[in-house]
Amino acid sequence: MDSTDHAIQRLIKTHGTNDPFRIATQNNIVVLFEELGKNIWGYYACINRIPSIHINNHLDDFGTKFAIAHEFGHHKLHPGVNTPFLRKNTLFSIDKIEREANHFAIKLMVGNNQPEYGETKQCFLLRCGIPEEFHVFY
Ligand SMILES: [Zn+2]
Repeated sequence: MDSTDHAIQRLIKTHGTNDPFRIATQNNIVVLFEELGKNIWGYYACINRIPSIHINNHLDDFGTKFAIAHEFGHHKLHPGVNTPFLRKNTLFSIDKIEREANHFAIKLMVGNNQPEYGETKQCFLLRCGIPEEFHVFY
């Protein structure tokens, strides 16, 4: 287990869920669903010390959860950092903070699920609802 795993286990225990929306709102973060066009999935902002997560209202269920979890990851991992917009075309950015937020998001979405005996990483993550192109973040 890495430090992200420990942080996520603590979060899930505290909140009784791995649902990113519920965890974010229970952390007093305002989660807003907005018209953000075709390419922006979401962003995190902290104005007058009030943190907010803005999510594109056209995302599907996975995209919505992933985007909230990613932005919440920035809130936990990168406080005070101006983080870039989560854009469709930079989802697979090599930027360190983006990779850390993606890793955090996937780990949170996997939650307490465990691979079954003999189950491959690919089958396990698909079972957790993670599309294949995102497996690289696990
Ligand atoms: Zn980001």
